[in-house]
Amino acid sequence: MKKVGVELGDRSYEVHIGAGLLERLGLRLKEKGYSGRAVIITDTSIGGLYADTVSRGLVVAGFAVTLLQVPPGEEQKSLATAAGLYDKLTEALAERTTPVLALGGGVVGDLAGFAAATYKRGLPLAQVPTTLLAMVDSSIGGKTAVDYGRLKNLVGVFYQPVMVAADIDTLKTLPANELTNGLAEVIKAAAAGDAGLFKFLETNIQKARELQPEVLEKIISGAVRIKAEIVTKDEREEKGPRLLLNFGHTVGHAIESVSGFGLKHGQAVAIGMMAAAKISNRMGLLAVNEVGRLEKLITAAGLPVTMPALDMEAVMEAMRHDKKVKGDKIRFVLLKSIGNAFLSDGVDPALVREVLNGRG
Ligand code: ADP
Ligand code: ZN
Repeated sequence: MKKVGVELGDRSYEVHIGAGLLERLGLRLKEKGYSGRAVIITDTSIGGLYADTVSRGLVVAGFAVTLLQVPPGEEQKSLATAAGLYDKLTEALAERTTPVLALGGGVVGDLAGFAAATYKRGLPLAQVPTTLLAMVDSSIGGKTAVDYGRLKNLVGVFYQPVMVAADIDTLKTLPANELTNGLAEVIKAAAAGDAGLFKFLETNIQKARELQPEVLEKIISGAVRIKAEIVTKDEREEKGPRLLLNFGHTVGHAIESVSGFGLKHGQAVAIGMMAAAKISNRMGLLAVNEVGRLEKLITAAGLPVTMPALDMEAVMEAMRHDKKVKGDKIRFVLLKSIGNAFLSDGVDPALVREVLNGRG
């Protein structure tokens, strides 16, 4: 098992990464001083697989357990579902000291995190991510939100968990395309901030896809460490460091949204990383062989590297809307080398268009 600390003064917490962690969540919460009732929030498909294991461990540690399940799917990230959870928390007589366990992927983490953060001004939250994407990204750093109107994550708060437990055994039941989706964020973290991890991925990506435990522990803890360091420096995404984790996301978010979310987040980010690398190369920053290494790794992970057939003008518009800075320029996270990202406010939209059109 590996442990990574997220240092935030008296709100610091540990991320545990390893096998067999679900059973031990109850004891870990007890050791942290919690007792009485504990509430598990999950979706019905993840709950069907893992709620019993978590419950049993909680009961052994002396907790009374309330299990709250919502249907799977992004549609549940709504104020209405959150309100339903408030009702259930009231029925369960949840108090300010009652821990809430968010057991699931990013959707459950965001929704349960939001409910826990806002109910009675905040209940202690344990993030228990069950997708690779949530393990390396969304469960760390305290972002919680629900969607509102047509906008994703419009209503939310920063609210740090008291612990995170990434049990790699849960990845055995994760559909392969969801695993691939998470690998995109692992590659992103390495490309932006850890050349050593990138090198390890180049050698071990196949073993990661085969769920080899030591490889999973190493790449997940590596990506978590990068995220944890950045969150420590820039908890609320105000100063800049946290924005480096947006490598691949300027183009990624735009094509994800223009595709009507037909592309998965990781696929869109993979395409976005390639675009950002090519732009970096065209601006004389990143060597061409480093672009090649990124392309090879993304492909080996089972992710796409080229633009799908989308309306290019809509993609450019989505980007301009989102990231326009001074004049006409677009804000981009670029690479100086693998493992060394920086924020640029001066990317020419014409160059972006050229690269996306495959002329880069
Ligand atoms: P992400 O973390 O990428 O945002 P989601 O929260 O959207 O992922 O979850 C993706 C889908 O995978 C959901 O349908 C969820 O129920 C399912 N899921 C999550 N974790 C697991 C798991 N460990 N095993 C099987 N299915 C899972
Ligand atoms: Zn992302």
